[in-house]
Amino acid sequence: MDLEKYIRVIEDFPVKGISFKDVTTLLKDGEAFKYAIKHMADKIRNEKIDLVVGPEARGFLFGAPIAYELGVGFVPVRKPGKLPGETMKYEYHLEYGSDSLEIHKDAIKPGDRIAVIDDLLATGGTILSAVKLIESLGGIVVHIGFLIELEELMGRKSLSEYNISSIIKY
Ligand code: IMP
Repeated sequence: MDLEKYIRVIEDFPVKGISFKDVTTLLKDGEAFKYAIKHMADKIRNEKIDLVVGPEARGFLFGAPIAYELGVGFVPVRKPGKLPGETMKYEYHLEYGSDSLEIHKDAIKPGDRIAVIDDLLATGGTILSAVKLIESLGGIVVHIGFLIELEELMGRKSLSEYNISSIIKY
């Protein structure tokens, strides 16, 4: 199945000059969604994963069904103030200002084998923050999987020490 044809590209969203890859058109197609989840899960089926971690919000849409498909748990990484329990925070710098992500401190045990899943790899900043949180709790990042990779932004460079997969490349 050619999944790329289920992605809608919207120019100048959210700001001028950005060519936004809209995954909602893939999500609303039952067959394409199922195919995407199965193929993303296939990349890690033999990795003895303990948990799947996905960042808010589109990481939930792909990470949770992949965890379900593999029969393992799912751990959300969220924007500050959203998780109710005790959290670990990682702050990362953007071009202007900074942003941060949080994870529940008790969500990961030292030595847990983790797959990190998100919809799209651009510069890699978001996923690197999730990786830092996982590692600060002692988790081992075994694989990082994306539905889409924007190759020209070279996100793989900042993630060169990890196993990475993506299904659709632009
Ligand atoms: P990065 O941190 O620069 O790799 O950006 C990746 C994050 O931004 C992911 O969590 C994506 O959900 C989001 N993102 C960036 N560009 C797009 C896009 O074109 N479509 C959908 N999400 C995007």
